[in-house]
Amino acid sequence: MGNFHLPSWHRLRKYIHLLCFVAFLALPFLNVIRADIPRQRFYFAGYELWISEFAIIFFALMFLMFLVVLSSVFYGRIYCGYLCPQMIFSEASMAVETFIRRKVVRKFGKPREILVRVLFHAVVGAASVLLAFIFISYFVEPRDLLKSLLSLDIRTAAGISGAAVTLVAYLDFSLVRLRFCTTVCPYGYLQGMLGDGNTLLVHYRDGDPKKVCIECKKCVRVCPMAIDIRTSPFQIECVHCGECIDACDEILGRLGKPGLIHYAWGEKGETVAEARTLPWYRRAGLRDAKRVIVLLVLACYAAGLFVALSMRRPVLVQVSPVRASLYKVDGGRVWNHFRYSISNRSSKPATVKFSLAQLPDAALSANPNPVPVKPGETVDGEFDISAPLSAHEELVRHFTILTGTDSVPMTFLAPSEAP
Ligand code: SF4
Ligand code: SF4
Repeated sequence: MGNFHLPSWHRLRKYIHLLCFVAFLALPFLNVIRADIPRQRFYFAGYELWISEFAIIFFALMFLMFLVVLSSVFYGRIYCGYLCPQMIFSEASMAVETFIRRKVVRKFGKPREILVRVLFHAVVGAASVLLAFIFISYFVEPRDLLKSLLSLDIRTAAGISGAAVTLVAYLDFSLVRLRFCTTVCPYGYLQGMLGDGNTLLVHYRDGDPKKVCIECKKCVRVCPMAIDIRTSPFQIECVHCGECIDACDEILGRLGKPGLIHYAWGEKGETVAEARTLPWYRRAGLRDAKRVIVLLVLACYAAGLFVALSMRRPVLVQVSPVRASLYKVDGGRVWNHFRYSISNRSSKPATVKFSLAQLPDAALSANPNPVPVKPGETVDGEFDISAPLSAHEELVRHFTILTGTDSVPMTFLAPSEAP
């Protein structure tokens, strides 16, 4: 191993947990991601998407799904150990419990279990309200939710869901915690299907014929899932957190020996430390054609999402002719009737001004024109187009309605002969 020093996986994990918590707090408030159910909007990367914008939502969901697949194929259950909110908040809850117990013992000289329980449940209860608020902010505009919370509303959908999620979070982080990962969560089982001989895993390797393992069992004691990684690297409970690696490195390090547990690229592959001299793509986990294909599929969805977002129009104008009567003749002019619908999908007010092209002598009568449309609003309306009646009028004339940003091809109908 030379002088190569591996990081403390515990410290790295805690930094990542902190980063994830900040992201979890910020994402719905910055409209980075929110499926706003009451408004029927999907917020993604600052874009306010309408539920009808199927292409963008499809590409966004497929991209996120393949990101999870890619992470599982390449890095096993790294998501569980480093990024999963269940893991982050369960470990935080256990740390809070330990902290309170230590403080109580220091203050009273002995553990007062009832006091510890009361304080612990008070902290978890308050934290559950906050977590439930943030979680529901992924589905309801945070300001609306705050109003429901401050008025202690348990009648609207937001209020009822807030109360229910608070209760679930409280029970989860005070009682269930990491048991969730081994009983309810399907991700561990999914990982079993997606992983293969090149997937990153946590592996115990004692290649010494005399066996270096000193049976201190520290790797077992620190394991949040209470398993012994030495028996198999494929235990469904293992979330690849790396705590056992740190523990063994520390214990055997005191004896001047390298640790026996490693992150390794499959049961037979190199450890992360051994792989440091390999090309970057092998170190990143790109080790066979299957991984190249997964990466290409992910890149296709990313490209599709990029194209769909770049082609998106914040103001959508739809115009259609009303053909209940093909045309009307009045005052020496021929009249065609049209209907429009303007959807402002942006966060700023917009105006749409209708005008005509390729229809000389024609006039457009709309009231109002331009049409003001507030952010998030859809305005429906009607207008007429009239042209002088002429004995030489064509039956069908093709022209264009201009909306300021769009050109809508349309037809104008007139009698073939003047009456
Ligand atoms: S921490 Fe290392 S030395 Fe101790 S029991 Fe586990 S594998 Fe063996
Ligand atoms: S065996 Fe090691 S990597 Fe797996 S959960 Fe336990 S401590 Fe984490």
